[in-house]
Amino acid sequence: MKVAVFSTKTYDRQFLEAANSPIQHELVFFEPLLNRDTAILAAGFPCICVFVHDQVDAATLEILAAGGTHLIALRCAGFNNVDLATAAKLGITVVRVPAYSPYGVAEHAVGLILSLNRKIHRAYNRVREGNFSLNGLLGFNLNERTVGIIGTGKIGLILGQIMKGFGCHLLAYDVYHNPELEELGGKYVELSEIFANSDIISLHCPLMPETHHLINSEAIAQMKPGMMIINTSRGALIDTQAVIEGLKSGQIGYLGVDVYEQESELFFEDLSGEIIQDDVFQHLTTFPNVLITGHQAFFTAEALRNIADTTFANIADVEQGRSCANEIRHQQ
Ligand code: NAD
Repeated sequence: MKVAVFSTKTYDRQFLEAANSPIQHELVFFEPLLNRDTAILAAGFPCICVFVHDQVDAATLEILAAGGTHLIALRCAGFNNVDLATAAKLGITVVRVPAYSPYGVAEHAVGLILSLNRKIHRAYNRVREGNFSLNGLLGFNLNERTVGIIGTGKIGLILGQIMKGFGCHLLAYDVYHNPELEELGGKYVELSEIFANSDIISLHCPLMPETHHLINSEAIAQMKPGMMIINTSRGALIDTQAVIEGLKSGQIGYLGVDVYEQESELFFEDLSGEIIQDDVFQHLTTFPNVLITGHQAFFTAEALRNIADTTFANIADVEQGRSCANEIRHQQ
C-alpha cells in the first residue's frame, strides 16, 4: 500500500524502513506535521501514518478523505489528537499501537523520581564545574514511602512493580481495578485519599474530558506538603499554572514531567537557537526542583521496533480485510 508517513524523524525512517523491507509497502516520508495545511500532501495515498502531535481534526480528515485516504495508522497509543466521530462519518479506519513500550515509559518515570529525589540533574552540573558541595542535594529513602498511581493499566502496573521493589507502599486509583496491582499489595482508594497520603503521585491514565486538569489547585491543596508529582502520560492532565503556584508555595516539592500541555509547539524539535515564546514553560524551567524531558519516555530501541512492526501488521489486517484488534472505533 502507498503510505504517507508524517512527522518523520531520522529514527522513525530507520525503524520503519527496516520493518518494511520484507513487506515492500511504498513509504513516502514527510517531515511536516499533519494538519489542515499539510493534509494535501497525502492526496492519492490510501494510508497515512501519524504520531502524537499530528492534528487529525475534522478539517484535516475532510481533506484526507477527498484525497482518497481511508486508513490512518497511528504509530502511538494515545488518540486524543484524532476526531474519531468525523473519521467514522467519512469511512476512515483508525488503527493504533496500543502498547509499544510500557516498560520504557514506566522506567523513565522511575528515572524522573530518582533524579529529582537525589538531585542527580543538579549534581551532574556541579561536579562538571568542580563544585563538590552536598548542600541542597539532600534526598529521602524511597523505602516505606507511599506512591499513588493514577491509572493502573499497562504502564501504571509496571511502575507499581518497580516501586514495590524499592519497598514503597502502593495506593491506586482507576475506573477499573487491576487484580495484578492488588496482588502486589496495591490498595485502590478514592482520588482524595491518593492526594492526601502519597509522597509521590505518578499519572498513567489517558487524557479524556474526565481527566483533563485532574491535577488542579483543589487537588494540590489536598496533597502532602513537599510531595512529588510525575507525569509521563499527557500534559493536559495537569493544570500547569496551578502546579507553578504549588511549586512556589512549597506544597509541591518536586515535579517531573515528560509531557506538557502545549508541547506540540516545542517538543521533538531543536529550538536551541530560538527564543521560546511560551512563558509558562519558560517559568517551569527556572525551578531547581522541576525536571522536564521532551516526550522521550517511550524512546527505546525496543519501542521503535514494536511501533514499526505493529503499524505494518495493522495495515496488513485492514488491507487484507481482516478485523484488526488495534482498530479504534468511535464510541457513540
Ligand atoms: P492503558 O490503557 O493500559 O492504561 C490506562 C489506564 O487508565 C486503564 O487502566 C484505564 O482504566 C485507566 N483510566 C481510564 N480512565 C480513567 C480515569 N478517569 N481515571 C483514572 N484512570 C483511568 O494505557 P498505558 O499503556 O498504561 O498508557 C497510559 C498513558 O501513557 C496513555 O494514555 C498515554 O497517554 C501515555 N503514554 C505516554 C508515553 C510517553 O512517551 N510519555 C508513551 C506511551 C503512552
